[in-house]
Amino acid sequence: MKTGKVIKVSGPLVVASGMEDANVYDVVEVSENKLIGEIIEMRGDKASIQVYEETTGIGVGDIVLSTGSPLSVELGPGLIEQMYDGIQRPLEVLKDKAGDFLRKGVEVKALDREKEWTFTPLVKVGDPVEAGDVLGTVPETVVVLHKIMVPNGIKGKVKEIKAEGDYHVDDVIAIIETEKGDKELTMIQKWPVRVGRPYKEKIDPNTPLITGQRVIDTFFPVTKGGTAAIPGPFGSGKTVVQHQLAKWADAQIVVYVGCGERGNEMTDVLMEFPELIDASTGQSIMKRTVLIANTSNMPVAAREASIYTGITISEYYRDMGYSVAMMADSTSRWAEALREMSGRLEEMPGDEGYPAYLASRIAQFYERAGRVVCNGNDGREGALTAIGAVSPPGGDISEPVSQSTLRIVKVFWKLDYDLSYKRHFPAINWIDSYSLYQAKMDKYFDEHISKEFSQNRIKAMSLLQEESALLEIVRLVGRDSLSEKDQLKLEITKSLREDFLQQNAFHDIDTFCSLEKQDKMMKAILKFYQEALKALDKGIYLSEIEKMPVRERITRAKNIPEDQLEKLDQLMDKIEEDMEELIKGGRQDA
Ligand code: ADP
Ligand code: MG
Repeated sequence: MKTGKVIKVSGPLVVASGMEDANVYDVVEVSENKLIGEIIEMRGDKASIQVYEETTGIGVGDIVLSTGSPLSVELGPGLIEQMYDGIQRPLEVLKDKAGDFLRKGVEVKALDREKEWTFTPLVKVGDPVEAGDVLGTVPETVVVLHKIMVPNGIKGKVKEIKAEGDYHVDDVIAIIETEKGDKELTMIQKWPVRVGRPYKEKIDPNTPLITGQRVIDTFFPVTKGGTAAIPGPFGSGKTVVQHQLAKWADAQIVVYVGCGERGNEMTDVLMEFPELIDASTGQSIMKRTVLIANTSNMPVAAREASIYTGITISEYYRDMGYSVAMMADSTSRWAEALREMSGRLEEMPGDEGYPAYLASRIAQFYERAGRVVCNGNDGREGALTAIGAVSPPGGDISEPVSQSTLRIVKVFWKLDYDLSYKRHFPAINWIDSYSLYQAKMDKYFDEHISKEFSQNRIKAMSLLQEESALLEIVRLVGRDSLSEKDQLKLEITKSLREDFLQQNAFHDIDTFCSLEKQDKMMKAILKFYQEALKALDKGIYLSEIEKMPVRERITRAKNIPEDQLEKLDQLMDKIEEDMEELIKGGRQDA
């Protein structure tokens, strides 16, 4: 292919002439240093290239070479437990190769070529196969069985298949006889990141992605295959929520994209995740996790790619029939990268300087989530849940990135500055947030957790909704103007907020709360309310009820370990007994 020449450099944007053979989205190498870039616009023989590395030192006249293929990722065994940058270069390896300073244009393979994997074939010579069929498996980590699938576009008969044994990712493990000749297959597939990977059929998500976070699971659940957004101002807890989901969500694979947020946050992830044990497998959560890091000190264009790299890797594991959860923190940084490139291309700016195609790009990203019937002959199903943090400047969600996101996602967890200021964490606003999966999940919870689950959730939510009106009255004319029943209501909503909604991510036990425990905690609070109402009816003073020691036990319920949930049943009995006692004692006039 002909080489072009740089005619202009503007930050991460390089324009080259003499590129008539190239196409939009081709990956190019810029200068002798072979900086990696991607063509984002073609005009005649001029290509506008977004470069994924620092462009200082690049000058007019430097050579530009198109690779002729779009930005792609390598898919195969060895992705899990890796940490990549936005264009899938392994960060550890990069560091070893280039020293502590990331040297430009260092070329490294995404998948380790030296390592051997134990491949077990599942097909035999003569079997007809097509895209998505599983040729064999590789235990990638102790918890992930990697399925080596026939790549897209290949259909034929197995001519050769390797026996069980140890192979490199680039060793030929099968030969497929197709209409277009024999195809040699290795354990690596390449896939262009900007194109969604194919599947047979999209189906409605029908099970919750259990996160162990009470406000999420009970009030605003997300499904396996669903989409959710977490907008919130700086410091409101977006990253902590994303980390909590990465740690605790009951997904088989987690792809975590740290996109332009503070650098030390990814270091936190690297330090903390290997130590954390997944309760369902007893293994470190890294054994199911892929990390993609683009911190704010990396070039802006690489952030733009990181979202696509992340979702493509996610789709690949979905295609194996797994439930995958992808977190992106934060999609605003990605949108800002889009805006910057658009500005440098001198495109017509839309709302707040973002390009007019912002909304469609965001929609395209979230549309790659979903529950699907995978390609392949075994009818397996996979799910990809996409959860994006959004950081609107000043926390004002009327801005374009928040608005475009909210139009497409089905779950909205709105983080509030006021709540985080009061140290109510997670600072998810229970009035403004919503989940469009609620009706379906109600059914699931009532069937699988307890028959009163949704009924209790509705009761609790309507109490919380009444609270603000009651608080307004208190503010205007004082608490004493409320009836004792309304005052009791405020006691209960306080308990719902503090004893249920608040959850400390940094507490050993409270950090994760099973649905069973969520159910019982909710029942205890509502039980207390119901019994207290009875007592009020019997003439007991509210002040007597408020002084009951059992309330302290409700407050501490969140710290009951998961293997001692019978203590919550005992608490319920205790509430009833103590209240009966109080009623029996009668009204205590001073
Ligand atoms: P953001 O990403 O929105 O800027 P962070 O996720 O970094 O905000 O959260 C800021 C701080 O808020 C955290 O360092 C932590 O102290 C506190 N925080 C957030 N969520 C929780 C939580 N669930 N439990 C305890 N503390 C929290
Ligand atoms: Mg953050």
